[in-house]
Amino acid sequence: MRWDERQLALLREIGVRLWLTPDAVVTGAPVAQATAPAHVTPTAPTGPTLAAPPEAPTAQPERADSVASMDWPALREAAAGCTACALCEGRHEPVFGVGNPRAHWMIVGEAPGDAEDAQGEPFVGKAGQLLDNMLQAIGLTRGKAAPAQQVYIAHAVKCRPPGNRIPSAAELARCEAYLIRQVQLVQPRIILALGRFAPQLLGSTEPGGKLRGRVHDYHGVPVIVSYGPAHLLRNPEDKARAWDDLCLAAQTLESALPQ
Ligand code: SF4
Repeated sequence: MRWDERQLALLREIGVRLWLTPDAVVTGAPVAQATAPAHVTPTAPTGPTLAAPPEAPTAQPERADSVASMDWPALREAAAGCTACALCEGRHEPVFGVGNPRAHWMIVGEAPGDAEDAQGEPFVGKAGQLLDNMLQAIGLTRGKAAPAQQVYIAHAVKCRPPGNRIPSAAELARCEAYLIRQVQLVQPRIILALGRFAPQLLGSTEPGGKLRGRVHDYHGVPVIVSYGPAHLLRNPEDKARAWDDLCLAAQTLESALPQ
């Protein structure tokens, strides 16, 4: 893959170093949506554990049935007033999601932290900035843009868990109807699952690190598992792996497009 100078500058700022031959750099080219993986520092499909072992989920078929037919306004309203699990007690407001409602890329985080709970938007502060920079380096944005460039971002669990703990499998299961409906409405072509919750989301007993580097499926949409940006701030040595994941997602999306 060839990279323009602006993309390389962004990656340097993020802290991702690419090992490039001179002909891999395009001078003066505009930033475009990335279409294939870059060769970055060596990575392994395994990394630090991303998730706690799953617990038995608590299903709520009746509630899921009613959520499954909602349009965007009804879905947002239902989440805003939701008291289906104990996380509603400590929240300021549910963090529903932002971005293009027909985005090709959907970014799914774990659950809101304090700042997100206060601002009502997923991935804000330094972690959000890092995510935005990584997305920008591959030609994507959370700002206003066409569906191919503007992502849709949501958390798997809409209300902040106390102390920023990982949501339990029961909480994930109770909240999942909203995420499934968001996926159905957005109809993304690729989902990036960022964080320790990925095994629960995908119904896997493998640790999250082992889920990286391959394509999974979530309700018919290909999923790439990676590290959450807050983890990357604490563990900058994993940024190159996260960049690999992003490039794998771009490659997966491109290979699914009609030739
Ligand atoms: S976390 Fe989800 S299921 Fe629990 S109260 Fe909030 S919106 Fe409802």
